[in-house]
Amino acid sequence: MALEGRDLVSIFDFSDREVEALFDLADAMDEHKHVGMKVADGSILCTLFYEPSTRTRLSFEAAMQKLGGGVISVADATSTSVAKGETIADTVRIIESYADMIVIRHPLEGSARVAADYASVPVVNAGDGAHEHPTQTLLDLYTIRREKGGLRDLSVALVGDLRYGRTVHSLAFGLARFGADVTLISPRGLEMPPSLLERLEREFDCRPSQYHSLGDIVTDSASVRRRKGSQKALATELLATFDAVYVTRVQKERFESDDAYQAARRGYAITQDVLAWAQADALVMHPLPRVDELAYELDQDPRAIYFRQAAYGLPVRMALLAALLGKRPVKVKRARKGDYRPEPRHEVDFRKMAQLKCPNPLCVTNHEAYLGPRFTFVKRVSDLVACAYCEQEVPSPLGAASRG
Ligand code: ASP
Repeated sequence: MALEGRDLVSIFDFSDREVEALFDLADAMDEHKHVGMKVADGSILCTLFYEPSTRTRLSFEAAMQKLGGGVISVADATSTSVAKGETIADTVRIIESYADMIVIRHPLEGSARVAADYASVPVVNAGDGAHEHPTQTLLDLYTIRREKGGLRDLSVALVGDLRYGRTVHSLAFGLARFGADVTLISPRGLEMPPSLLERLEREFDCRPSQYHSLGDIVTDSASVRRRKGSQKALATELLATFDAVYVTRVQKERFESDDAYQAARRGYAITQDVLAWAQADALVMHPLPRVDELAYELDQDPRAIYFRQAAYGLPVRMALLAALLGKRPVKVKRARKGDYRPEPRHEVDFRKMAQLKCPNPLCVTNHEAYLGPRFTFVKRVSDLVACAYCEQEVPSPLGAASRG
């Protein structure tokens, strides 16, 4: 069974065909979501959350119960031995004797990879700092597939805090893998990190257009002309090209001070006036919670599907749990040409890395002392290496052509 026993730490962990097969299973699970099933009798899921959550934790727990399994939950890790200084590695090695799978959310980048390395049961990343949130991406892509009838070659705008928003970090790659034309709209200072942009281009030939406000889009007629190939096209047509507009909040908890947060948070609210320029069947999506970037007046608009999007989290997580526990077969079709498939990560010999430390202050390796530096080679680039946990890229101390 293709996915049995696997971890889901990054959106790169599953191939395109595995994602699609999981969605087929989610379609089947959707039919059972009211009555429940008896496929995971006797299995226990542990949700281990070091950060607040509503949708992710509750939908994982509901999904496990709908499958007939049980749940043990740490909703606030400071109430556990973490408060006494217990490490992630020790915590998951305790939990694995009580649970058959662990879903972890933690503020440090790379923390879910540590959990997966130390636990013998499957580990799912429910958000590791600003790094990734792969199950949110699964439900986002599933939402698009359900609402649009397919995933291929769509035009999607990602709006908001693209610097710290982990959902958009995973989603940009998920979309690019299925051939989407991605547009990025973020306030100044909250742009998508350059290393992610480089990776999008390097690995998926995806070069998003970038704007700083929705207003820029409406006035950037040059860009519209480039896209449409027509001198006469109106600027507002760009907004009308999006199949989906995915909005995110500014991630207050990732700023060093409230002043920095307030300065970053300049208005990019989506209102009915803005939506007037969008396609009649465009999707307005949001991972939620919203703060003030989505006006409540939009909730009645048929294009506003963020509550339905959150609801799709249930069948998607039912399918994921059943698949990783090996309780339901996942029928993975043969890969098409150009499909993404995970490749083994080649680690740099640690003896050659001597003093190299991950420069990311929020990387788990800079907080959990037992973790030594581990770096992997970067695909298609010989003079960079990437932290094996948070994926921060750094110049290779071995220089170019260092591989092997
Ligand atoms: N719920 C999502 C997350 O955990 C989005 C957000 O918090 O803004 O990343």
